[in-house]
Amino acid sequence: MRKLVSIQEVLDVQPIEGADAIEVARVLGWSVVIKKGEFAVGDKVVYAEIDSVFPEKEEFEFLRRGKFRIKTMKLRGQVSQGICFPLSILPEGDYEVDQEVTDLIGVTKYEPKIPACLVGVKKGDFPSFIPKTDETRVQVRQRQLTDNKGAVCVITEKLDGTSTTFFQREGEFGVCSRNMVLLEDEDNTYWKMAKKYDVQEKLRLFGRNIALQGETIGVGIQSNKYKLEDNQFFLFNIYDIDAGGYVDYDELVLFAKILELPLVPILDDNFILHDDIDQYVEEAKGFSVLNKKTKREGVVIKLKEHMPGEGYSFKAISPDFLLKFGDE
Ligand code: ATP
Ligand code: MN
Ligand code: MN
Repeated sequence: MRKLVSIQEVLDVQPIEGADAIEVARVLGWSVVIKKGEFAVGDKVVYAEIDSVFPEKEEFEFLRRGKFRIKTMKLRGQVSQGICFPLSILPEGDYEVDQEVTDLIGVTKYEPKIPACLVGVKKGDFPSFIPKTDETRVQVRQRQLTDNKGAVCVITEKLDGTSTTFFQREGEFGVCSRNMVLLEDEDNTYWKMAKKYDVQEKLRLFGRNIALQGETIGVGIQSNKYKLEDNQFFLFNIYDIDAGGYVDYDELVLFAKILELPLVPILDDNFILHDDIDQYVEEAKGFSVLNKKTKREGVVIKLKEHMPGEGYSFKAISPDFLLKFGDE
């Protein structure tokens, strides 16, 4: 689970060229603009990530103009992500670095509205035998990056759509949104994707207990940033239900070919993992493979050979994308 608000240490403070009232602090792997002299290296702060929505309390009134939501900003040419407060905003007590204080402050997470074509009718909870799709932000991954330095990875484009899971298990076929199994319904985009790509029949012929996980994009989804004329599904993961793990990259490519399903755009399949967070943020920038005029959301980086645990994969979101589309 994402820690939206936590106690963190200021790792670095640097001036911003041409600005004398503000400077840029480093907290986790994030750069965040602070008032000059407000915090020094080593200070403990309450750090709130982007997507935090603050409660409408007097001390947070200054956030009203942005609907109390923390967004990516650019100040004097410096990208700023998140916000720092002194520990004095918390009730008195002992706090440790990394401790989460989201609920204590009453912060909730910003969630965009779900369009009708994606709502669907719930058939059941998301299957417990398949992990939900998710990716952790590179900015909170310094330790794992350093631990896995040198590993061979694949970089794919992160598509800004909706998470879609198809599964077959002991003859049962299911279509899922991010959080539930959906009843068959011809108006529902997830089911439309199942039909369009003939997923049920392909999985039946394939004969294994697996889940296909990908992103559906296009009409009606996330403002159709890629300007597609229809909806399309792009596979990024295959989960082997019997083995209880994701298949490795080579197998993913092979299965995608057999099942005749498109993969998310592969940007580099022989990338050597480094541990420079700012470099990943740079790599996240650029245009989409699907539409050369659309800024891409970012990249997802994954070890080519599956390793259990946290080191497996992460995302880097393009600040350019967040600055452009952040208000949607
Ligand atoms: P957060 O946890 O940061 O608040 P979030 O959980 O809502 O955000 P996203 O930022 O959309 O999720 O990032 C994770 C999602 O990215 C996955 O669930 C998946 O649906 C989607 N995704 C898009 N493209 C890819 C890709 N190439 N590889 C893996 N996942 C991808
Ligand atoms: Mn998440
Ligand atoms: Mn997304």
